[in-house]
Amino acid sequence: MNINQLSDLLQAQQKIIEQIALGIPLPECLKTICQLIESIIGTPEAKSSILVLKGHQLWHGAAPSLPSAYCQSIDGMTIGNNAGSCGTSAFTDKQVIVSDIEHDLLWQDFKDIALKHGLKACWSTPIFSSRKEILGSFAIYYTEVKSPHKVHLSLIDYFTHLSGLAIERHQTSDRESDLLVSLKNTNEKIRAITSAMPDQIIVVDEKGCYVDFYGDSPQLPAKNPEGLIGQVATRGMSPEQTQSFMALIKHVLKTDEVQVCEYEMEVAKGKRCFEGRFVRVKHYLHESPDRQHILWVARDITDKKKADLRIEQLAFYDPLTDQPNRRLMTDRLQGTIDKVKRHQTIGALLFLDLDDFKRINDSLGHNVGDQLLVKVTQRLKPLLRDTDTFSRIGGDEFVIILESMEKDKNLIMDQATSVSKKLLTNLSHTFHLGNGDYRIGGSIGIKLIEDVNETTDDILKHADAAMYRAKKMGRNCYAFYEPALQELIDKRLEVESEISTAITQRHFCAFFQPQIDMQGGLIGAEALIRWRHPKKGLISPAHFIPVAEQSGHIHHLQQAVLDDSCQLILQLKEASLIDEGFSIAINISAGQFDFTLENSLVSTLDTYQLSPRHFKLEITESMLMDNIDNTVNLMHRLRDLGFRFSVDDFGTGYSSLAYLHNFPIDELKIDGSFVQQLTPGGDDTAIIDAIIAIAKQLELRVIAEGVEDDYQVNQLSLRQVDAMQGYFFARPMPASEMITWVRKSRESYVLNYDI
Ligand code: C2E
Ligand code: CA
Ligand code: CA
Repeated sequence: MNINQLSDLLQAQQKIIEQIALGIPLPECLKTICQLIESIIGTPEAKSSILVLKGHQLWHGAAPSLPSAYCQSIDGMTIGNNAGSCGTSAFTDKQVIVSDIEHDLLWQDFKDIALKHGLKACWSTPIFSSRKEILGSFAIYYTEVKSPHKVHLSLIDYFTHLSGLAIERHQTSDRESDLLVSLKNTNEKIRAITSAMPDQIIVVDEKGCYVDFYGDSPQLPAKNPEGLIGQVATRGMSPEQTQSFMALIKHVLKTDEVQVCEYEMEVAKGKRCFEGRFVRVKHYLHESPDRQHILWVARDITDKKKADLRIEQLAFYDPLTDQPNRRLMTDRLQGTIDKVKRHQTIGALLFLDLDDFKRINDSLGHNVGDQLLVKVTQRLKPLLRDTDTFSRIGGDEFVIILESMEKDKNLIMDQATSVSKKLLTNLSHTFHLGNGDYRIGGSIGIKLIEDVNETTDDILKHADAAMYRAKKMGRNCYAFYEPALQELIDKRLEVESEISTAITQRHFCAFFQPQIDMQGGLIGAEALIRWRHPKKGLISPAHFIPVAEQSGHIHHLQQAVLDDSCQLILQLKEASLIDEGFSIAINISAGQFDFTLENSLVSTLDTYQLSPRHFKLEITESMLMDNIDNTVNLMHRLRDLGFRFSVDDFGTGYSSLAYLHNFPIDELKIDGSFVQQLTPGGDDTAIIDAIIAIAKQLELRVIAEGVEDDYQVNQLSLRQVDAMQGYFFARPMPASEMITWVRKSRESYVLNYDI
């Protein structure tokens, strides 16, 4: 029986008792009884009938769903030993269940008429008075061959009893006292039904106070439920629980819908978890029909929850290491693939296989092998982030999924590489097993998870293949699935270690390229880093800046440029070749514009006793748009010290023009690619014109870089840029050459053209 049926049952009881008490005519009472049981059984195949006994004959009481022709033909039938279900039951005082009318001997004389009306089964129960006299019979007919279910029998029993009350009240005059006794019996019967159910049934009023209980009481916050009546159910609940409980009651009363919720409650047995179903019952209290009530069915689901958890644990976790098994890992991998597709990010999957597991397992036994797997897990798992998945997919194979929000393939490759290295290094330390120390190793295959149409299977297969390649490379190696990626990574690592060496051997230095104003005067220079490689010669920044940025070496490189720049200024000053207006432009990398940079700028200038006015920091548009608040703050601090800012490669990024005025910028630098478009006859000047217009609007200076010929110089001066830089004037050169160049430029004008 579900909660709706139970609530119907309680309401039915109230309704019938009300009708009996109000003295509603018997046929109507009996009809109500029939209609209610039919609606609770809830199928049109079931049709109820009540016959009233007078002398030895049964007369029609109520049968709202049976064909009236059938009712008429059995009206007044004599009870007896073979008189169908009803006649026999009223005669024998016993319940008579006939599940197949056609073949039952009891129905021999009546079956034709029953079958004619489609009636195939009939379960009949005698109706007794409170003094155990027979009053009639209560029956359920079915239009199909059918035996009753336990719940049917309880319902029939219960409604038969109610029918008895109705008939008796109608027949006897000294009924008041009897009625009370019978009423009590009715309640007892409901209690009997509910006590056979595993649930606790609680009735509360609209204020949340306990009104009634049915069923056993271990689900209640007291051993003796009677003592709780009148108390609020929220007693002992937290303020949040109280609030949601009262909201729930309100909602149920308002909507008349069944509400289901899970809650924890301290009951006589301790803290337990329950599933509560709540439904409104109308007219629950006969004496105060206006009060609203709620039927609350509580089921203790603590054990079920524990079992569910255990089942989930068994289904999705490896029992030895407690880590996700292949199934859960595959699930998560699918999640990562979906995320990668949605956000265009890149993830990575690492397939790890232990190198000497079989040897240890075979020689020391499975127990020790198991121990090793647990220890490997304990050692490696903490090396990962919480968002990563560490799983054991079988034997000595582990799969690690690196979740990432990165869109940059190089970055995720670096991440996967550094995680692999970390895992392998930790794996190579000794393990204490049984009585000895053992060394094992591992091999890792790496597969990037990108927005391509690969399934979880493809990715695992590829990572597995990469793992085999790593195994072939020797102990403790890792390999990417794509050989091209592997090559790239190898090269990058090589460059990284060469950069380290070059830093210690001072192979990095700055070259300088002059910047010229429109009168042809020298106003400063841009410092451009160079690597003087002992074997490869001069290496240009494009080959090492990205690696240095990712490996963190960029700070050291920047320091070399700063030192060289300071020394150049000091030398030029000493030779009285420049004045206070001369400035050096320093390129700042993305990701480097932070507190560390601020510190090193301040302390370096302090060391050389130079003013920040001699320095212009070149930052890019994307750096401005990244982390805007921090960037603006740092820029303001540096500008207050005297540093100036130039926006490099302006026009190539996506800066929001609306934001530009928020930054303390001094200058826009037109990217060389736009200057290169200035060619005789084929000018594409729209962008340059736009940049100059923006600069004028925001009152910023404009400098053009990559100026290579006199046509460009002419065009730019027509447009009144403030300064220029490029091969036309000079290529970037070492500091010593720069000094000579400056000296020469003081002697003759650099610019030699008509304006
Ligand atoms: P950038 O800041 O846009 O530098 C201008 C580049 O254009 C330089 O290349 C320069 O040598 C080159 N160049 C100058 N005049 C002309 C010209 O007339 N025509 C052409 N075609 N090119 C010209 P370089 O020195 O190879 O530097 C490349 C990039 O490396 C720079 O681009 C800058 O982003 C980065 N870089 C250079 N030095 C540093 C540094 O010290 N720190 C950081 N973080 N990045 C640097
Ligand atoms: Ca630059
Ligand atoms: Ca530039």
